[in-house]
Amino acid sequence: MTSNLCVLGSTGSVGTRALEVAQRLGIGVCAIAAKKNYQLLEEQARRFRPKIVSIYDSQAALRLKNNLKDSFIKVVSGEEGLLEASSRRDSDMVLNAISGISGLAPTLEAINAGKNISMANKESIVAAGEIIRENAKNKGVKILPVDSEHSAIFQCLEGAKKEKKDVKKIFLTASGGPFWGKSREYLEKATIKQTLCHPNWKMGKKITVDSASFMNKGLELIETTHLFDIAPEFIEILVHRQSIIHSMVQYRDNSVMAQMSSTDMGLPIQYAITWPEKFDSCVAELDFAELRNLSFEKFDEEIFKLPSICRNALKLGGTAPAFLVGAGEKAVELFLDSKISFLPMIDLIIETFSAYKPCKILSINDVMAANSDGQNSSLEIFFKSFARQ
Ligand code: MG
Repeated sequence: MTSNLCVLGSTGSVGTRALEVAQRLGIGVCAIAAKKNYQLLEEQARRFRPKIVSIYDSQAALRLKNNLKDSFIKVVSGEEGLLEASSRRDSDMVLNAISGISGLAPTLEAINAGKNISMANKESIVAAGEIIRENAKNKGVKILPVDSEHSAIFQCLEGAKKEKKDVKKIFLTASGGPFWGKSREYLEKATIKQTLCHPNWKMGKKITVDSASFMNKGLELIETTHLFDIAPEFIEILVHRQSIIHSMVQYRDNSVMAQMSSTDMGLPIQYAITWPEKFDSCVAELDFAELRNLSFEKFDEEIFKLPSICRNALKLGGTAPAFLVGAGEKAVELFLDSKISFLPMIDLIIETFSAYKPCKILSINDVMAANSDGQNSSLEIFFKSFARQ
């Protein structure tokens, strides 16, 4: 089990929960990092007493340095500061809860420093899964999934103790988000507030929008292929509205294993940082009589197009997933800035990706370049075809 944790993205929903889980288990926190929320970082620094606090934004860093000058906590900033926090000698695990591609460089830095990774930064895995896997293998470090679906698949595979050839199919479950079952007319008028109102999970804004558009499930499909070395044709998306089963593994004899628990990220976070051991948790027990029904529905990738765009990116390979991640990041940003509405946001991602010709990935620079290319192309196409008059 981890004894000293570094939490990247500590002010986000997974980051704050990770700090609570660590404290409850008596695990030390030696480093925390965030983008610009200096008030919450200061609070966390005083409560968890890390040796180092990294804040990306330079203005916020000045304020934080000033506010923490009575403490003995080192405050660092920018990319350099983030990398310093990620690779500190005293941590034995880095929990990466950064949202977006900016989580990639610190992931690689931490792997190269020999740290095990609790991975909640799915964009990095999607964009640079092969590089991450290869580096982790060379350094002998473990990548432990924090995403609830992947934690479920991990636990099912671990529980069954079977070989890869025995796995027939992965059921990647999806809650359906706030708009499942709604008409096209409803979606045409969908507001930011409705989009951010997820029925089961309280998460950051980007992932909540991705969840409503099903981009999140597409990204998770790519994530599944990299984390478990499973080809996409063996992964089926299944809508399960209650989010009690977090994913399932079907074996060659058609026996299916499911992992069930409350909709609380505290559990996958805890198992990633305590693996391979299990401990008591503060996650609520399931009350099956109260739940009564667990439902399952087919997912039609012809109607909900983003997961099949993600499958296509995976098939094209190379820089295609990194570009798609960038196109998606920009489209969501435009949506959250009220520049584009919900359905056109989905069309923008599809149109941006359709013109892209991927290249081979030789280094992390190719991944980052493809990602910013995706962001820029998305913005260009937005101005050309989608901007409101
Ligand atoms: Mg998930």
